[in-house]
Amino acid sequence: MSWKDSAAYKAYSALGERPRGLEPWGVNNAGEVVIGLGELFCRCNIADEGEEVELCRKPRFSHTGNLRSHVKTAHKMQVAEVRKGTSSGSEGIEAEKFYKAIMKKHDALGADYDPNSEIEQTPGPVTPSKPPKKIHRPLVPRKKDRTVNKSQMRKTAGIGKWCPACKEVKRSEFKSTSCPGPKGSNCKAWEAFTSESESESESGTKI
Ligand SMILES: [Zn+2]
Ligand SMILES: [Zn+2]
Repeated sequence: MSWKDSAAYKAYSALGERPRGLEPWGVNNAGEVVIGLGELFCRCNIADEGEEVELCRKPRFSHTGNLRSHVKTAHKMQVAEVRKGTSSGSEGIEAEKFYKAIMKKHDALGADYDPNSEIEQTPGPVTPSKPPKKIHRPLVPRKKDRTVNKSQMRKTAGIGKWCPACKEVKRSEFKSTSCPGPKGSNCKAWEAFTSESESESESGTKI
């Protein structure tokens, strides 16, 4: 069976557009483009030097001969000559492998693959969102008599004389007299502190 009859080559030659993930051609020691047996798509890299590879947009050629002349004329590149009469042996096996690899990649990349989109990348696997960083909150400051040091609390919480919540209460009929208000109220000052009950006995933690 000839490589031309392989399922991979049949699939390749039936494609209207270049298979996904196709690599640009390499050149041989003579600087010539080496076009493989039966190739039908131009693999010239048309991107400027140093830029990301961008292959020629030409659709499928009807046969390799047309592709070869396209490369010579449109891209002004030297094309390596094909050795005649040798395509039955090892080259045929190579060709079959080549198309198998191309079609495997093509299928693996999926239909939504767009080689020319840099911004619109297919989203990668969903990374599990990291647990929120544990913020170490200080303990509620207390005076020597163990009562809550309210002014110190506001200072630590970055609140002026009143937090927004207490200010609202102050203006309302409840007339809050100070901030921080009672524990358990909406007072923002309390949010900056660890309540004694949930405090962890972390040793060596400097506040
Ligand atoms: Zn081309
Ligand atoms: Zn408050």
